[in-house]
Amino acid sequence: MNCELISVGTEILLGDILNSNVQFLSKELASLGINVMRHTTVGDNEARLLKALDDAFTVCQAVILTGGLGPTPDDLTKETCCKYFGLELKEDGEILNKIESYFSLKGISPMPRCNKKQALVPTVGRVLSNNNGTAPGFILEKDGKIIVILPGPPKEMIPMYRESVKPYLMQFTNEVIVSHSIRTFGIGESYMSERVEDLLEGCNPTVAPYAKCGEALLRVTAKAQSEEEAEALMKPLIDEIRSRLGSSIYGIDSESIEETVVAMLKEKGQTVAFAESCTGGLCAKRITDISGASEIFHCGVVSYSNEIKHGILGVKQETLDKYTAVSPETAKEMAEGVRRLANASYGVSLTGYAGPGDSEEVGLIYIAVSSEKETTVKKLLTGHRGKSCRDYNRHVAASNAFNELRLAILNNN
Ligand code: ATP
Repeated sequence: MNCELISVGTEILLGDILNSNVQFLSKELASLGINVMRHTTVGDNEARLLKALDDAFTVCQAVILTGGLGPTPDDLTKETCCKYFGLELKEDGEILNKIESYFSLKGISPMPRCNKKQALVPTVGRVLSNNNGTAPGFILEKDGKIIVILPGPPKEMIPMYRESVKPYLMQFTNEVIVSHSIRTFGIGESYMSERVEDLLEGCNPTVAPYAKCGEALLRVTAKAQSEEEAEALMKPLIDEIRSRLGSSIYGIDSESIEETVVAMLKEKGQTVAFAESCTGGLCAKRITDISGASEIFHCGVVSYSNEIKHGILGVKQETLDKYTAVSPETAKEMAEGVRRLANASYGVSLTGYAGPGDSEEVGLIYIAVSSEKETTVKKLLTGHRGKSCRDYNRHVAASNAFNELRLAILNNN
């Protein structure tokens, strides 16, 4: 089945709100094996919406619209769709009662007169009740064409989709689409793509490369009659990618590199502590975002000043004087110091220049990982300078620190 998504609302066209509804619906429809052919956004305008419906039905059997179901005169999605299918609207007493009680529960009585408009329903079609707001949704069918109308606010649209629309759409599809994300660190999108170039040609399963915040991932997707069949189609391909990219892969379907590191430490019964300078506690924040991190995370020291690097972490004064705070020597002593201080299996440190600015040193960060076996130091050049590089540099530095820790855990096996 082919489908088009139409978002209704001038505020989307003006950039006042982010169109998260299409992202949600596109993913949901893909998982049902329904082809989303196009995303269209139309302002609150009847003529343009009628034209958008006409265009959509030249290639699609179904159109899902969100937004424009409110009580004001510029909310015209329901009225326009009924006009398109030649359907009448009439007041539904039960829905009117529901809207009235929705307002009285909020202490508003009588309800605003304009909300009566939301109790108008098409004489033919299915009404979808809204348990999180006032506007009902609709499923209209005519001559093999389907129109699904959903409210704009995601907190109303998502439950309505899940409760009513998804079960309805499942009758039209006997295919499922399953995807896996193979997440890599440290090789970059171009190098990763080169290593698997020949695998990017396939059409079922497909392999697509993406890059995000210093990471690169491959999304493998298969279409089949069942989930098991889709998994079986993908397995040899995923095995091949694993063998080509090796330890650059930090996880499959993992949410983040810190999640992988937490899982690895838990599995080994090991612990970590951080000494952070330029990242100001970001590693500690990201690791404690993961529930259950207390099992593996001892402490974080934000050692911004040289006094703390020396006094708390035990970095030698002569190291600071001779090599400065941003040096491999200082990073090494910071990592060793925090490991000692916390009595942890690993000590990880970061010291560098996050910016902003255009000077040469911006983006230079030293990351050290200390374990019982050894201490390694990595020199990271993020390649980002300028006015707004600070957040990026700090994020990428923290991600690299997690990756260095991951590699140390692998090497200590
Ligand atoms: P209401 O009954 O609240 O007026 P509605 O169905 O008429 O709802 P709109 O008036 O078009 O929907 O939008 C209401 C709010 O819903 C918007 O201000 C916005 O916050 C959210 N919204 C609408 N469309 C989208 C969208 N495509 N993606 C994300 N949020 C949206």
